[in-house]
Amino acid sequence: MKAGEVMTILDNALRIGKGVTRYGKVAAYIPELAKKDKNKLGICLYTIDGDRFEVGNTEDRFTIQSIAKVMALCLALETFGAGFVFDHVGVEPSGEAFNSLVELDNRSNRPFNPMINSGAITVASMLEGRYSIEEMQKYMQDVCEDPEIAIDEAVFESEMATCARNKAIAYLLKSKQIIDNDVEESVTFYTQMCAMSVTARNLATFGLLLANDGIQLSTGKRLISSQTVRMVQTIMLTCGMYDGSGEFALKTGIPTKSGVGGGLLSVAQKKMGIGIYGPSLDEKGNCIAGCELLGYISEAFHLHIFDQTEWKVE
Ligand code: GLN
Repeated sequence: MKAGEVMTILDNALRIGKGVTRYGKVAAYIPELAKKDKNKLGICLYTIDGDRFEVGNTEDRFTIQSIAKVMALCLALETFGAGFVFDHVGVEPSGEAFNSLVELDNRSNRPFNPMINSGAITVASMLEGRYSIEEMQKYMQDVCEDPEIAIDEAVFESEMATCARNKAIAYLLKSKQIIDNDVEESVTFYTQMCAMSVTARNLATFGLLLANDGIQLSTGKRLISSQTVRMVQTIMLTCGMYDGSGEFALKTGIPTKSGVGGGLLSVAQKKMGIGIYGPSLDEKGNCIAGCELLGYISEAFHLHIFDQTEWKVE
């Protein structure tokens, strides 16, 4: 495919996304996020050959929110090993909303997976016992190749003032001895990592790192092990879109993680990383435009993991 055709497809994708934006809503449970402009939309593709294609608001900063769960899982797997991490957090889709605690209370003695809040707070608690938030920030800057990534203090304060539910989850985790570290400090670390501000470009860069087996394209350096990359992508595919994961996987076949800030991180194995920003969310808390347009992009570029058609930009 020629570069010009890629841009035509991206322009179409932007139009498709904009067509559904009005049916979604910005996240209102974090008051600071309720102020965001729901009409923003940006798509960035970063290919394995080092080409970047983008349309729309790809340089706008927004808070990474739940996409930080992917970075936290990478760091935890590399630091503590899969045995320890998965002793504390499972790998099964929960079929519940991202902030649910019913299944944790009723059906299991560990969180279902690391992509929902209970699992991610458990992972954040492990990390908090080992790393400072500055070290976590540095890790996020490194994998996204952007030294400007920093906490958005307004969003952080706003979420800390309204995070009773996450604290309830964390206290439940403590009562079940799933987390050892201090509950308040664990929730603070979790909320800080969620409040890091990124761009769609940053997410495409991180997506490409995962698509390239953990090797940074610009330097040839390995930042994440193959085993970690494989595990994380599997969990993104099965659990990354919460209770919408199955339908999304069927439609796009691209391991993806959403955040309520409007971000989407997608990894097309050996082909490209994709970063999307669109703060208008569907009822499950996923970027409504991104979910729609990724179906189209997946078909156009043959990105579904089970699509065996060869595809390359010439
Ligand atoms: N910080 C947010 C929360 O805990 C992240 C949720 C999300 O992005 N789905 O509610």
